[in-house]
Amino acid sequence: MPDVSLPVDLRSDTVTKPTRQMRAAMADAEVGDDVLGDDPTVIALQEKAAQLLGKQAALFVPSGTMANQIAIAAHTHPGDEIISDISSHVYYYEAGAFAALSGCSIKFCHGDRGIFTPDMVAASVRPDDSHFPRSRLVIIENTHNRGGGTIWPLERIAEIRRVADRHDLILHTDGARLMNASIASGIPPADFVQHCESVSICFSKGLGAPVGSIVAGCSDFIRQAHRLRKRFGGGMRQVGILAAAAQYALDHHLNRLADDHDHAKLLAAGLADIRGIDVDPATVQTNIVLFDLDESVGPADAFCDRLHAAGVWMFPFGPQRLRAVTHLDVSRDQIVAAIDIIRQCAADAAK
Ligand SMILES: *Cc1c(COP(=O)(O)O)cnc(C)c1O
Repeated sequence: MPDVSLPVDLRSDTVTKPTRQMRAAMADAEVGDDVLGDDPTVIALQEKAAQLLGKQAALFVPSGTMANQIAIAAHTHPGDEIISDISSHVYYYEAGAFAALSGCSIKFCHGDRGIFTPDMVAASVRPDDSHFPRSRLVIIENTHNRGGGTIWPLERIAEIRRVADRHDLILHTDGARLMNASIASGIPPADFVQHCESVSICFSKGLGAPVGSIVAGCSDFIRQAHRLRKRFGGGMRQVGILAAAAQYALDHHLNRLADDHDHAKLLAAGLADIRGIDVDPATVQTNIVLFDLDESVGPADAFCDRLHAAGVWMFPFGPQRLRAVTHLDVSRDQIVAAIDIIRQCAADAAK
């Protein structure tokens, strides 16, 4: 086993810490009052992000949740219905905000690892009848977190757009990990969201910034987003110090996402060799590895505790399922070491 530092923290790509160089960029950032619209570093980041995503404008916000919730609030009225995958982040992990803040309901598609079909969308659209909520917004999550970091095929998004046009639906991409999708596939981020009215991306995941997300769309949408950000309490003042971290991440941490994807594949290949663990390495497309435990190894939460004590940290993701996420602060050697530790823990657990 290589001599590496423990723990190997695979709980999430949100655990990355800003590097020394990123901190230097933050310390040197020019700032202004961004609520008044005069923080030059934020303005530059928003322009760069809008260009990257092929949209007219973009707005810097504190979190991916706020970015998604601003989009939902801008696109819907209370009583409207959203269509998304049953395991979508907006449903699963945003504290019910679609209902609490925007008064929406959600109708679920049961996709394959988070990727649903145009037929599922069409079947979810409510008839135009006063009994029903109005179907309004389709949310595509790319890559799909609970699906295991899956990438949406471009053609599938185009097909969803055609159904959306038939039923007067708006499309939003939750692109917290859109850059992972882009680096893994070689498809520019703007191409992935060309059919969507709006998109959110996160800087605080694999890109390694401490805080920050972007929501982007047409100029009218961003004007609305501005008011909603203020209403949700997300107006920030000399926030150029955070925008500088995001800018640094785009300049220096984008292409290296490919390393995280290699590490995830390496981990999955290693796990596939371990007795009592079930994983299909072919399903690993980006930086997330989902794997299942055989009953003989016990339940996922107990196995996570055992791993934690041995210096490999991850989260249970179901009764028998775990999730591991690779990122900037995990080296190849640490992955190799983690595989050995997991093998030992699986053997001990099965005793
Ligand atoms: C992390 C994540 C978000 C945003 O989460 P925050 O913690 O609010 O920044 C949104 N969507 C997906 C798919 C995510 O994984």
